[in-house]
Amino acid sequence: MASGFRIYETMSRKLQVFEPVQKPTKGKKPKVRLYTCGPTVYNYAHIGNWRAYLWEDLLRRYLKFKGFDVIQVMNLTDVDDKTIRDSIKEGLPLKDFTEKYIKAFFEDLDKLNIERAEVYPRATDHIPEMIALIEVLLKKGIAYKTDDGCVWFSITKFPDYGALAHIDTTQLQAGASGRILNDEYDKEQAADFALWKGWDEGDGDVAWESPFGRGRPGWHIECSAMSMKHLTKAFKGGKFDQKGFETIDLHTGGVDNMFPHHEDEIAQSEAVTGKKFVKYWMHVEHLLVDNKKMAKSAGNFYTLRDLIAKGHDPRTFRYLIQSVSYHQKLNFTFEALGAAKEALKAIDDFILNLGAAKAPADCKELPSLLDKLESEFTASMDDDLNTSPAFASIHIFMRDINRIHPKLSKKDAEKILVLFKRIDSVLGVMSFEREQAPKELIDLADQRDEARRKKDWKESDRLRDLITKAGWVVEDLPEGPRLKKV
Ligand code: AMP
Ligand code: ZN
Repeated sequence: MASGFRIYETMSRKLQVFEPVQKPTKGKKPKVRLYTCGPTVYNYAHIGNWRAYLWEDLLRRYLKFKGFDVIQVMNLTDVDDKTIRDSIKEGLPLKDFTEKYIKAFFEDLDKLNIERAEVYPRATDHIPEMIALIEVLLKKGIAYKTDDGCVWFSITKFPDYGALAHIDTTQLQAGASGRILNDEYDKEQAADFALWKGWDEGDGDVAWESPFGRGRPGWHIECSAMSMKHLTKAFKGGKFDQKGFETIDLHTGGVDNMFPHHEDEIAQSEAVTGKKFVKYWMHVEHLLVDNKKMAKSAGNFYTLRDLIAKGHDPRTFRYLIQSVSYHQKLNFTFEALGAAKEALKAIDDFILNLGAAKAPADCKELPSLLDKLESEFTASMDDDLNTSPAFASIHIFMRDINRIHPKLSKKDAEKILVLFKRIDSVLGVMSFEREQAPKELIDLADQRDEARRKKDWKESDRLRDLITKAGWVVEDLPEGPRLKKV
């Protein structure tokens, strides 16, 4: 059955209907295997990184909403040029240095209400698998060694090199004059890249033994090894097993990952397996500051901690990121964050107000409004996760409901909450606090409302005090009382 979910696929530069690689087993949800390039843990993730992870969380949640069983792997790059450089600068062993940022990463992830992936593999735990892949490439003559202990991928031996980033392969440099040791480089520098870097002084005590000498892996081979290990059965007893590999459904990252990282991942992986590495590639546009790419190296970045220190709620940031299409560059400003706060407050207040619904009969207009919202939301999200009209539909729905609010019964309010919760299983920004107020407090608020109507002020004050003591405030709206956590 067609999923109806259309995504913009980077390799083909086309919108495609998403269909998983594996045929579903009867009675089970169809399985989707998703690989998301994770953080390089040499600093706190900046809010540009969080744009990428939030969008990947949205993708994961929407796939689940569509009935797929998602297996997501997000790697932790805990060894590369930058982690080694900065751990030495701080005089810490690599493991202690990266541990601090791994811990911070998960703290921020939870604050942003990002669902946990199924696996968070660390590069340093997968050196044998990386070595196994490099051995295959050497055996096939696609990789070669040099005297400095490095092993290189020969790009001219892989005819499809450049297909993802759309590089003109006639310009490619190979061999002695065309080798690049850095993990990161530009398209113009496309050349043979390092699979294994022979130890040198700059590496301090970071090194592993391998059949090709002491050294460490290049960044790109890390993701090839970790994705195949955790999403396919390509390794048996630490050795590469050709038969166990199966094309991975989805692989994502920010647009800067497209080249060289993902291009190199494809080259290494497909040269090893002889099969298509990934069915769908997807990339999220950058978050900008002052209209420039936010990057740790440029020093123009904010962390989530910076926003929290300025008094902003992570939920607001999540709303801001999601309110804009992931194909659009998003220039971060505090004005935009302020507007997101207002928009989110409108949703929060709307949900709180639902607690005051008490018309005796159900509202006849509600079912069609609920259907409209659900179908509009799904249509927007099916259109390549087009969140901006999805949010617009929510705000229009709220406007319509506010108009008919006096006609809503308690049951109506429940129905609205059910749909909002379903929608929020994807968006992850709403607060259902009124619902979380303990039943006794809701009863007390209702009793107090009754006392007020009878003008029994003494009793109503007594009940208000009880609610306040429990850490809640009761607000009197025209529709009735509303409970808010202090
Ligand atoms: P890194 O830790 O640099 O490997 O980046 C982790 C993820 O964040 C990758 O998917 C990057 O493509 C993404 N990323 C980096 N900078 C930005 C940015 N300014 N906006 C959006 N995504 C970014
Ligand atoms: Zn990666």
